[in-house]
Amino acid sequence: RSMSSVTIPPPACMLRPLEVPLRYLFGPGPSNVPPRILAAGSRPIIGHLHPEMYEIMNDIKKGIQYAFQTENNMTIAMSGSGHAAMECAVFNTVEPGESVLIAINGIWGERVAEIAERMGANVQRMVKTPGGYFTNTEIEQAIKKHKPVLFFLTHGESSAGLCHPVDGIGDICRKHDCLFLVDTVASLGAAPIFMDKQNIDILYSGSQKALNAPPGTAPISFNDRACHKMFNRKTKPVSYLFDMTHLSNYWGCDGKPARVYHHTGPVSGFFALRESLAILAERGLEESWKKHKEVAAYLYRGLEDLGLKLFDLRLPSVTTIAIPEGYDWREMLTYIMKHHHMEMTGGLGPSIGMVMRIGLMGYNCEKTNADMALHALADALKNCKKSKP
Ligand code: PMP
Repeated sequence: RSMSSVTIPPPACMLRPLEVPLRYLFGPGPSNVPPRILAAGSRPIIGHLHPEMYEIMNDIKKGIQYAFQTENNMTIAMSGSGHAAMECAVFNTVEPGESVLIAINGIWGERVAEIAERMGANVQRMVKTPGGYFTNTEIEQAIKKHKPVLFFLTHGESSAGLCHPVDGIGDICRKHDCLFLVDTVASLGAAPIFMDKQNIDILYSGSQKALNAPPGTAPISFNDRACHKMFNRKTKPVSYLFDMTHLSNYWGCDGKPARVYHHTGPVSGFFALRESLAILAERGLEESWKKHKEVAAYLYRGLEDLGLKLFDLRLPSVTTIAIPEGYDWREMLTYIMKHHHMEMTGGLGPSIGMVMRIGLMGYNCEKTNADMALHALADALKNCKKSKP
């Protein structure tokens, strides 16, 4: 057979049109994307190094500074999902052998601990069961003991449905010469966070939750303390793609006159992210926080009326309910998807089998949607009662 002949035929599935169902995305993310953001993402592609693209990236930077409440110059969006920001934060600010302290009260601390271990950090874990939280005294004691260069905390623990208090922790970290890294993937735009005022040294988020942009881009910001550490290291970060010396140039944050090619950013994803940040800026952070709080409170009342049990320190974007006695959570979720075309989810990591999760984020955060979610749950409670043990 000649080398030029095709032996593998075109796959039959590729000869059929793309099919995507319409769904209510009332889980912990992605959330539904409003038409304006979808439209922004479908604009014609331009080059990733065109001046118009730099303008759009500069707008994104401003939008993130607003959403994070920071004046940090080193503010960019990752070409990648929330995990890209997690890896970028750790890879750039920690060198192999250095001690890092991770607060774990759900899956996200566990993930960051694994990321830090993979790059050779000396990882110290503080662990609580999902839904548990850490007092500032506990955090300070652990920092004194382990002398970490970095302390990690999840603000919106989406696997546990918990919004962790942040006040005072940044000051403790400063006092002990440790960087404070906070995950706001599930909470940005839904619950207040003030990067500068709360002395957070590195903050990251995601595009697909309360921002309502498609998955695949992730805001991240580093303050001067974090920049000092990451730009004065002895070793190069293990990742070329996530190396902030290159990314800071790509995003025009390094003061150099020209941006040079590093990688091709997700142009459409950046268009959509810009639009999602524009909507947040038009609406205002306070208004967005207020709306999430109000709709969450409305949902809590409805859930309690259904006899469902909730957890404390609740995250307004993602609500966790204890799996009711006598029900199989998988069966309930399948029922809700089949009969209501609605995504809700089970737990994640340590909260699997403990909770079910309902997310009403950004565009989805409306009382009418809470009513739909409650109606679907009530229907599932009626029809999924387990006969077998
Ligand atoms: N952190 C938190 C709190 C999250 O909820 C998520 C996404 N579920 C992530 C990090 C990871 O984000 P991604 O799935 O976009 O990589």
